[in-house]
Amino acid sequence: MDFSPYTPCRLCPRQCAADRLDGSPGVCGETAELRIASWGPHMGEEPCFTGTRGSGAIFFSGCACHCFFCQNWQISNVHGNGRVVSPDEFHRLARGLIETGVHNLNFVTPDHFWPHIEALCVRLREEGAQIPFLFNSSGYQLPAMISRYAAHMDIFLPDFKFADPVLARAVMRDERYPEIALEALRLMVAEKGFLEPFDPTGILPARQGVLVRHLVLPGQIENTLGVLEQLREEFGRWLPLSLMSQYTPASAAQTRPPFDRPLTPGEYQAALDHAQHLGFENLFIQPLDAGNDFLPDFDRDKPFTGNP
Ligand code: SF4
Repeated sequence: MDFSPYTPCRLCPRQCAADRLDGSPGVCGETAELRIASWGPHMGEEPCFTGTRGSGAIFFSGCACHCFFCQNWQISNVHGNGRVVSPDEFHRLARGLIETGVHNLNFVTPDHFWPHIEALCVRLREEGAQIPFLFNSSGYQLPAMISRYAAHMDIFLPDFKFADPVLARAVMRDERYPEIALEALRLMVAEKGFLEPFDPTGILPARQGVLVRHLVLPGQIENTLGVLEQLREEFGRWLPLSLMSQYTPASAAQTRPPFDRPLTPGEYQAALDHAQHLGFENLFIQPLDAGNDFLPDFDRDKPFTGNP
C-alpha cells in the first residue's frame, strides 16, 4: 500500500499539505488513520443504485467541504463520529458487504481516504469482485485525481451544489467550488459517460457512468437555476440528474436563515419547472414529504431508520 500521498497531503482542492502520517489532521479533520462511521446495505440512494438488495454504503469520517448545513454533520465535522479501522478490517467489512448481495460498493465522501480505498479496490478485484464500485462525492474533487479514481471506480455520483461563488464562499469557505466541481464533472463524464443502464425503477441496477445530484436549498432558487443552466449547457439534456428536495435544517443551519427551514413546495416546483423547461430527460425527483427515514443520526448503531 502506498500511503505516501498522506504526507504532505494534497489529495483535495484544499491543498493543505498536512502531515497526516505523523498524526496531523488536515482541513478534512482526518489523519492517515482510516476512520469509518457506518456501513451496511443502504436503501436511501436513487433506485438505480439501491435496486432490491441495497447499495453497499461505507460512510467515512471527515470531509473537506464543511458545509454548515451538512446533513451528515455528526461524521463530517472535525472530531466527528467514527472509529479507526485497519486495512485488513476495511477489507473484511467490504467483503462482508459484497456477500450480502448489495448491487454496488458505495464509497461515501471517499476523497480524503483515497490511498486506503485504492488499495482496497485493487485487492477486491484481484479476488474476483464483480460488482460496480461507486464514488459518492461532493463534487469538490481535485481534477488531477479524477483519472486515478476512474481507474478503479465504475460509477461517479457527484453533487453539483453551487453555481454561485458567493454562496459557495458563505457555505464552505471556497468560492472556487463552481469552477472546480464543473471541471471535475467534465472529467468524470469523459471517463465514464452517462449512467447506464438508466432505469428509474431500479429493476436494472446501474453498472457504469455518471449521475449528478443537486440539493435544492431554501431561499436559494437562483443558485439552483444557475446549476441547472450550467449543467444543461455543459452536458446537454440527456445528463442523468437527481434533483433532491430532502433539505433539513441541521447543526449550524438552525440559526442561519433562510437555511433554518425546510424547502417550500413552491421552491421545489420552481426547480422542477426549470429542469423541465431546459429539457432534462433523465431526471430523478423526490417527493417533498419523503419523511425522515433517510435522515441519518450517526449517534445510533443504525443511522437510517429506513434501512432493513
Ligand atoms: S484531503 Fe484533507 S489533508 Fe488532504 S489536502 Fe484535503 S483537507 Fe488537506
